[in-house]
Amino acid sequence: MSEDIYIYNVRLVDRDMDTPGSLLIRDGVIAGVFREGEYTDTAGDMVGARLVNADGAILMPAFVDMHAHFRDPGFTQKEDLVSGSQAAAAGGYATVVLMANTNPVVSDRAVACEIRSRATGMRFPDVFQAVSLTRDFDGCDTTALAHLDPAEIPLVSEDGREVASAAVMFDALSLCAKTGVLVSCHCEDPTLAQRAKELRTAALADPANSAEHYTQAESLLRLAEDLMTERNLSLADAAGCRIHIAHVSTRSSLAAVFAAKKRRAGVSCEVTPHHLALTAREAEIVNPPLRFDEDRQALIQGLIDGTIDAIATDHAPHTESDKRSGAPGFSGIQTAFPVCNTILVRAGHLSLSALSKIMSANPAGLLGLHRGLLQVGMDADVVLLDANAPISIDPTADSWLSRGKNTPFAGKRFYGAIRATLRRGVLLFGTF
Ligand SMILES: [Zn+2]
Repeated sequence: MSEDIYIYNVRLVDRDMDTPGSLLIRDGVIAGVFREGEYTDTAGDMVGARLVNADGAILMPAFVDMHAHFRDPGFTQKEDLVSGSQAAAAGGYATVVLMANTNPVVSDRAVACEIRSRATGMRFPDVFQAVSLTRDFDGCDTTALAHLDPAEIPLVSEDGREVASAAVMFDALSLCAKTGVLVSCHCEDPTLAQRAKELRTAALADPANSAEHYTQAESLLRLAEDLMTERNLSLADAAGCRIHIAHVSTRSSLAAVFAAKKRRAGVSCEVTPHHLALTAREAEIVNPPLRFDEDRQALIQGLIDGTIDAIATDHAPHTESDKRSGAPGFSGIQTAFPVCNTILVRAGHLSLSALSKIMSANPAGLLGLHRGLLQVGMDADVVLLDANAPISIDPTADSWLSRGKNTPFAGKRFYGAIRATLRRGVLLFGTF
């Protein structure tokens, strides 16, 4: 049960406002939003509500992650529903969409709903489980997509791999055009990715020519993303389907999304905090790879001009030994806000309101959820935070809640401390 709470002495920040004020939560929804000086309790609204003085902290809609891997079932040595949920809540997230590349692969409604129900309870964010585009990632069988309801399963994805066959991808998109489920695409041509891998192996065997091999591999991996982004956008046009491009990382892919958005509605994309913060100068393994600084700058510009709709973490926890053997990705759900707040807001690229829009309102809207804004009637999913508090990222600390300790930000200093995260008025993380 949620309690009724009146939070005062806060800075209310969402897509549409940034103002001192107070907020009333009743029965798990936002029952009142008051700008400073606006509120007098003539109707007795506050009767029975717990009064919380937030000491001037910032209150924002909790974040919505459209793209995370909690590895459950099958790889729970890396993460499970509990550890992933705790890390998410500690990162200010109250809604998370989990990708289907578990073991077994989540390939139908029943399994997805079973995972969602396992993650339902007091301490969990709202967890949605994505279904794969093809059964067991076989690249062929799309029939399960015909039976999905976007209210249960708002998003489907083959994330971690690409549907190689254009015809099968067209089938998947056509089925989802009928149900209204959003198709999130991991755009990567598998044949070019394989060739890049071979070039990297060749580089290790032939140190004299390794630079050339690495450069070729880099450009093939870029082409792998660009070609499939173009292909998937064109297929979605033809199928009349909503399409969401996951983890856009190159300037040309972003340009393709921009062009597709001009053609029609129903096109969206996301970017990860690590592609916004880092470049290929860092020897970090992630898929898609870190790119050049000109790509990174284009992504930031894409956030400013609205081409990019959402920041999604692609939270990808691994064990230490998996990471040593080259497993791609980072455990990033707990660091997303401080990283983005530092490199986007404090660096002067975006306002905190604009960041709220791309971390909460937009992803909630794309998933068809009634949350992500501080408005009366919305779910009381909120995060209380201090945007100016310095934090240093330490994956060995007790406060690091993901089982995966793999982060490129270890030892680095960012700004933005999460004090508390609430889902429908229930405290998931922090003190209050
Ligand atoms: Zn992916």
